[in-house]
Amino acid sequence: MCAAFPDFRLGNVLATSFTGTLSERHGTAVERVPTPQRLVDWLAVNGLAVDSCTPAQLDLARELRESIHAAATAAAVQDPLPASAVQVINDCSAQGRAAAILTPEGKRRWQLGSASCVEDALGVIAADAISIIAGERDGRLALCASPTCQAAFFDTSQSRTRKWCDMNTCGNRQKKARFHANQRRNPRSAE
Ligand SMILES: [Zn+2]
Repeated sequence: MCAAFPDFRLGNVLATSFTGTLSERHGTAVERVPTPQRLVDWLAVNGLAVDSCTPAQLDLARELRESIHAAATAAAVQDPLPASAVQVINDCSAQGRAAAILTPEGKRRWQLGSASCVEDALGVIAADAISIIAGERDGRLALCASPTCQAAFFDTSQSRTRKWCDMNTCGNRQKKARFHANQRRNPRSAE
């Protein structure tokens, strides 16, 4: 079943991994959580397992996702944050009931208020977005250099010069495009 849906892009920043569930926003958009069950799958992969998800909860999740995308994009280019996006992020953060739990192995995991509560998981994602947009974490918000993507991502590289939201997709595609452009300009070059 799952094979019929687009893969998830995995990242290590929860909020921007979440916004990455819609990719190629400026090209042919790819919706990676097309059904409530796919959101359940995505949440499980990201340590926020829930039992179920209703279509209304999926709508709420997508509303939060696009709000985080809008606010993070504004923050990346130092524009004022869109008020409606800020409102959605704050509402989701305030509605979620999740507790950070320290495991015996010294890791953090999230304990949701109830397993049927997608809202609790969204609260964790909203709080993660707030922490990166507020500049609380070590890193820099930037926009992907791929013209069809332009996703907001959180650059934690030492030099803060990362150009692409994802090296394996956008980064690779750009590199290939450059390689072919060079080949056309310089057909005899073996490089
Ligand atoms: Zn990208």
